[in-house]
Amino acid sequence: MDKKIAENVTMDRLVSLCKRRGYVFQSSEIYGGVGSCWDYGPMGVELKRNICDFWWKAMTQARDDIEGIDAAILMHPDVWVTSGHVDGFTDPLVDCKKCKSRFRADDIEGSACPNCGGELTDPRQFNLMFKTFMGPVEDDTAVVYLRPETAQGIYVNFLNVLGPSRRKIPFGIAQIGKAFRNEISPGNFIFRSREFEQMEMQFFVKPEEDQKWFDYWKEQRFNWYLALGIKEENLRWHEHGPDELAHYAKTAFDIEYSFPFGVKELEGIHNRTDFDLSRHKDATGVDLSYFDDQTKERYIPHIIETSGGVDRTMLACLVDGYREEEVRGEKRVVLGLSPKVAPIKVAVFPLVKRDGMPEVARKVYADLQKHFKCFYDEKSAVGRRYRRMDEVGTPFCVTIDSQTLEDQTVTIRDRDSMEQSRVAITQLPQVLTEKIGPTV
Ligand code: ATP
Repeated sequence: MDKKIAENVTMDRLVSLCKRRGYVFQSSEIYGGVGSCWDYGPMGVELKRNICDFWWKAMTQARDDIEGIDAAILMHPDVWVTSGHVDGFTDPLVDCKKCKSRFRADDIEGSACPNCGGELTDPRQFNLMFKTFMGPVEDDTAVVYLRPETAQGIYVNFLNVLGPSRRKIPFGIAQIGKAFRNEISPGNFIFRSREFEQMEMQFFVKPEEDQKWFDYWKEQRFNWYLALGIKEENLRWHEHGPDELAHYAKTAFDIEYSFPFGVKELEGIHNRTDFDLSRHKDATGVDLSYFDDQTKERYIPHIIETSGGVDRTMLACLVDGYREEEVRGEKRVVLGLSPKVAPIKVAVFPLVKRDGMPEVARKVYADLQKHFKCFYDEKSAVGRRYRRMDEVGTPFCVTIDSQTLEDQTVTIRDRDSMEQSRVAITQLPQVLTEKIGPTV
């Protein structure tokens, strides 16, 4: 009998799988690593790209009211003064006077150091933005920041996009890109790092329609995680109370995921009102208002923001998909990723390395590579090859066997059910495309 032996993944097991199978490595590992930055390996980069593509298509290709941009990471330093990040983007922080450890004040219970019991300093404000210098002179006038969010690149380009795209409100601007925060306590693998990637969309609306669009985007974004294959029972809503709201937000809801280390934020949906455009308008003197030529009204658009993390979404996919089972007395580790985002969609195997099977398999492989990211393997017993693909998360394995040589059919083995069905080689692209399903 088959039996599930591990329902809940531990982070240790997942981190070890990610290293073993080429998903995620610690940055600069051979130098001892930088704890707060991560490198994505051959499998990780595919999964990450697929998640980004899935978001990008949902936000742009499948819609008629959103444009994309890709703004620079380095922006005019005054942007961050206007946005409130220079003054407000701070976390209270305490230091241990004895062992010199540093903690977020919010994380500490009691008044002693959790490491050594030593005395703690009073909380001090610590700005989370990374600073660097632009140009050869390292003085205060040359300071620039690594953006802590991608959103500001969208606000400052509002008019640039509005003009050429000839959009009317309501419409949105989407962007995927790196963001940097000098987090005081990074951790939980790729959940909180100092360099990460955001998928953000800013939707510009009439002031009186903000609530309507806020509700609309809440629903859209929740459904996106379901379409990505995340189990609904692992997703939660969290409404920000008055003391949690960011300086720019009128209302905010987070979509949270039940990670092994607790229920934590995946994405925020924020009603940012006219805060950002008004502030940029006042700071620059550039008129960022919108004129509605039907109603003849002029107003500063209000903004509904959806702000998600690529790395956190990837972690949720990995956690959600990981399972261990017992199959005929042996442990089977499966990464049950949705076929839409799985790094390798199809593996192609000759059953054995003789009788002309590898030649046919190579040809099938070359044909399928025109449609999907594939993997070819002819080494070791076929059962072991299947297990390897289960662990990497490959949803389908195509095997060329002796019957193939007679009737030009192959088996497709399903990762989750382990069942096999026979199809004609000529039907493979179509059958597999149907099994993978639409990626929009
Ligand atoms: P948290 O409370 O967890 O620090 P936040 O509320 O500061 O997150 P936002 O400013 O709303 O996060 O950023 C939007 C999204 O960017 C988050 O939902 C998350 O997915 C991602 N994100 C933010 N900070 C990090 C980080 N340090 N590492 C990875 N992803 C992050």
